[in-house]
Amino acid sequence: MSTACEHLVVDQGVSAKTPEGCEGCIAMGDGWVHLRLCLSCGHIGCCDSSKNKHATAHFHSTEHPAIKSFQPGEEWGWCYVDEVMTDRVS
Ligand SMILES: [Zn+2]
Ligand SMILES: [Zn+2]
Ligand SMILES: [Zn+2]
Repeated sequence: MSTACEHLVVDQGVSAKTPEGCEGCIAMGDGWVHLRLCLSCGHIGCCDSSKNKHATAHFHSTEHPAIKSFQPGEEWGWCYVDEVMTDRVS
């Protein structure tokens, strides 16, 4: 199966809008498990292990295709459109 994905190779050098945590959870006063950074706009959302799943919700509301982990020491990325994971986003 082809894993070609043009979304993950493009890193526009976005900076996190809310480096302190998930934007949606902070607004709700809620908590999260892990954080994901949107490669299109710098939105910080929580992962699918978090109850609010804001990173996935952000994809559905904006169609921004790709995220990378916002966890310290984690460099992997994920494309929602192609459902492709990469070890490193560069
Ligand atoms: Zn893709
Ligand atoms: Zn959240
Ligand atoms: Zn975004």
